[in-house]
Amino acid sequence: MRVTFLGTGTSHGVPSIGCECPTCLSSDPRDNRLRPSIYVQSDAAAVLVDAGPDLRQQALRHRIRRVDAIVFTHGHADHILGIDDVRRFNALMKGAMPCYGDPATLDDIRKTFGYVFDPAAPKGGGVPMLELRPIAGPFSVGDLQLQPIPIRHGRKPILGFRTGGFAYLTDCNALADEAWAMLGALDVLVLDALRERPHPTHFSLSEAVETAGRIAARRTYFTHMCHDLPHEATNARLPDGMQLAYDGLVLDDLPLS
Ligand SMILES: [Zn+2]
Ligand SMILES: [Zn+2]
Ligand SMILES: [Zn+2]
Repeated sequence: MRVTFLGTGTSHGVPSIGCECPTCLSSDPRDNRLRPSIYVQSDAAAVLVDAGPDLRQQALRHRIRRVDAIVFTHGHADHILGIDDVRRFNALMKGAMPCYGDPATLDDIRKTFGYVFDPAAPKGGGVPMLELRPIAGPFSVGDLQLQPIPIRHGRKPILGFRTGGFAYLTDCNALADEAWAMLGALDVLVLDALRERPHPTHFSLSEAVETAGRIAARRTYFTHMCHDLPHEATNARLPDGMQLAYDGLVLDDLPLS
């Protein structure tokens, strides 16, 4: 199994519009962060986790042609606004895109993309063909078995996912009690770490380090960073086995189970 980080930035992206802070002006490509998403591939499946506003650019940059399903963590704009670009994948796959999410997320998608689900809406440029599939427990896409992990994004319960020894927990500031038992013996953990200062819906870096220490994966990568966390300087002071992820980072040869 291979995981490609398509975007590791917070909802504004880094650089953020009109900002002249050192991270936003940095020439280090790892300080350029698109909106958060990963692409997971096995021999028999390819899954996108979230479809944010940078999906088109991410798909072109990584020459992504194949997506068998999109798995959504939650319905915030930075995770779903790429849905219109699913039209290209519909053309390539000659069919509707299976879209997995919890019921609240699928509701958010129906509301945000009302024209897609309104039979009376004019279909001039075509609309994405989406097959919404509510998540009610573990499910699989090809040979990828996906375990939903209940996490908390402020007061909002949302989902992270585990497949094999890899877990992706973006947009959270707490884990549900039952999540801990689902995160044993991880090879790789990806965890939200927005910035240093506390935030009501995201882990700060120190909270993320503490939580990652408790989960104790072999390697931890942080994601969903804002411009307060410059890549190199932040990495230099993280504990062993913990790093910031960056756009374009590829993790290869992850075991499927
Ligand atoms: Zn900035
Ligand atoms: Zn969010
Ligand atoms: Zn987000």
